[in-house]
Formats: sequence, structure tokens, C-alpha cells
Amino acid sequence: SIKGQYGKFCAAYDDELRSKLLQEQAITDGMEAALKEGQFEIYLQPKYRIKDDKLAGAEALVRWNHPKWGMQSPGLFIPLFERNGFITQLDQYVWNQACATLRDWDDRGFDPLCVSVNVSRADIYNTDLPDFLLEMVRRHGLSPARLHLEITESAYTENPHQLIETVAHLREVGFVIEMDDFGSGYSSLNMLNNLPIDVLKLDMKFIQSETAKPINQGILRFIMSLARWMNLSVVAEGVENRDQLERLREIGCDYVQGYYFARPMPCGQFEALLQEHGASVQEEYLQTEPRY
Ligand code: C2E
Ligand code: MG
Ligand code: MG
Ligand code: MG
Repeated sequence: SIKGQYGKFCAAYDDELRSKLLQEQAITDGMEAALKEGQFEIYLQPKYRIKDDKLAGAEALVRWNHPKWGMQSPGLFIPLFERNGFITQLDQYVWNQACATLRDWDDRGFDPLCVSVNVSRADIYNTDLPDFLLEMVRRHGLSPARLHLEITESAYTENPHQLIETVAHLREVGFVIEMDDFGSGYSSLNMLNNLPIDVLKLDMKFIQSETAKPINQGILRFIMSLARWMNLSVVAEGVENRDQLERLREIGCDYVQGYYFARPMPCGQFEALLQEHGASVQEEYLQTEPRY
């Protein structure tokens, strides 16, 4: 009977919901200890400059090396941490690890590199953020421009006014601002007009949708000319094959990141890459004095 089917459906749904809640409970119960015990690790994914194939930076992406579950991707825990507020502590940890790594590499004489870190929508509405970040880079003796702050496009819709203010402040003191997941939402163009940023990071969907759709190449060309006009540099992420790279080269995209070049990797592995190939970073990012 229909009623019987419905009952079965509800039971299955309840089971799924229950196991999801149990999993979330387990994550919440373990998060504080995990942070203290160093179970969170940063992985670095190389970013390359298209015009000369040079290593030009990295994005720091967090992983949870869980004693029972093994290495876990952020998809499992970031959305939950954004809801329960733990993301603030975790992000501060990630940013600090990124700075410590840069400090160490500078001290050992490697080519100076910039690292992009993700800033959650939950962090960006904290008015202490600029002071916190400035104090952190100072403590590590780094110029703010060595840290690129990736802010997701979708954060804009919550409270544009406050977001604009915080981002303007961060940029004024010298941090480089990257708009992550650009083009994923509906506010993109309006936001470009209002938010002071330095870099557009194209959402993966533009290049991952099949070549068969010429409209995507058209949109990319449009974004590139807009970016040129606004003096923004453009990074494409999610590049998985040669064909995508060639299409990006054709439209004049500046930087690429993706599995075609390298997956996110432990810092030690990235260090070997940096040591072997060196890096080349835009001059303006290398000033030693912060702009404040
Ligand atoms: P995101 O900032 O857009 O980062 C890019 C994601 O794309 C990463 O996933 C990266 O591993 C993945 N990726 C890179 N190249 C390719 C490719 O060629 N193909 C495909 N299919 N994927 C590629 P990941 O590491 O799983 O991170 C997912 C999201 O979690 C990130 O998206 C970011 O929003 C968030 N996240 C990661 N680390 C942090 C962090 O430390 N703090 C915060 N607040 N969020 C983070
Ligand atoms: Mg990102
Ligand atoms: Mg992001
Ligand atoms: Mg992204």
C-alpha cells in the first residue's frame, strides 16, 4: 500500500538523519582536542603563472588527520564548523601555520612566496579581523602582502555594507584580497562594482563544463576584459586537463591551479617543489614594509 511505502521511506530517512546527526556529534565532540593535538594539517596546492609556467604561489587548504577516520577533506567538517562557530579558531590556526611556514622558508633562503588562505564568511564579519591578521603577520616578520585572503563570493549577500568596510580596511593595510568562487552566485557583477579587491578567482564551473558549450568561453572572455579594465588579476581553479589550460591561455588568464598541475600536498612535499623549481612572485607583493 501507499501508506506502507511511505512508512518505509520515513524509516529510511530517519536512519539517514540519525546517522548524520551522530556523525556531526562525533565531529563536535572531537574538534577542540583535535586542534590541541595538531590533527588539523595544512596542505598546499601550487598556483602557476600561465605566461611562463612558473610556480607563483600556493593555496592553503585544511585537512583533518583523524586518528580513527584517517585524512578527511574540509567538505566533511567546514560547513558544520561554520554553523557552530569553531571555524574562527580553526581558520586562525591555519593562517598562523601558513605564516610560520613562510617565515621558515624565508629564513632558509627560498624564493619568497605568497600563500592564499581561505577566510570563512563567519570570520569576515568580525570587526577585529584586520587587527588580528596584522598582529599575526608582524609577529612572523612578514609583509601583509605575502598573505592573500580568499573571500567567497557568496559572503557578499549577508551584509554587503559591513563586508565592504572590512575588506577595504584589510586591503588598505596591505593584504591582497582574492574573490573566491567568482561567478558561482548571482551577485557577481554588482559586487565587483562595490568591493575593493585585487584578484578574481574563477569558479570551477566555467572551465569544468564541457567544451561543447561556447557560451562559457564567451563568458570567460567577458570576465577577462572586465578584469583587465578593473586592473584585477585572474586565477582559474579546477584545471584538470591540457584542453582547459589552452582555453585559459587563449583568453589571457594569468594564473592556474588544478589537478592537471598538482593536487593539494603536505607542506614538506611542496617545499621540495619550491626548492627544485624556485618561484616567481610579482614584485609588488615582496615589499618588506607593511603599508600602514
Ligand atoms: P575552495 O577555496 O574553492 O578551494 C578549492 C577546492 O578545489 C579545494 O578543495 C581543492 O582541493 C579543489 N581542487 C583544486 N584543484 C582541483 C581540480 O583540478 N579539480 C577539482 N575537482 N577540485 C580541485 P578542498 O581542499 O576539498 O576544499 C573545499 C573547500 O573547503 C574550499 O573551496 C574552501 O571553501 C573550504 N576550505 C578549505 N580549507 C579551508 C580553510 O582552511 N578555511 C576555510 N574557512 N575554508 C576552507
Ligand atoms: Mg579557495
Ligand atoms: Mg574558498
Ligand atoms: Mg574556490
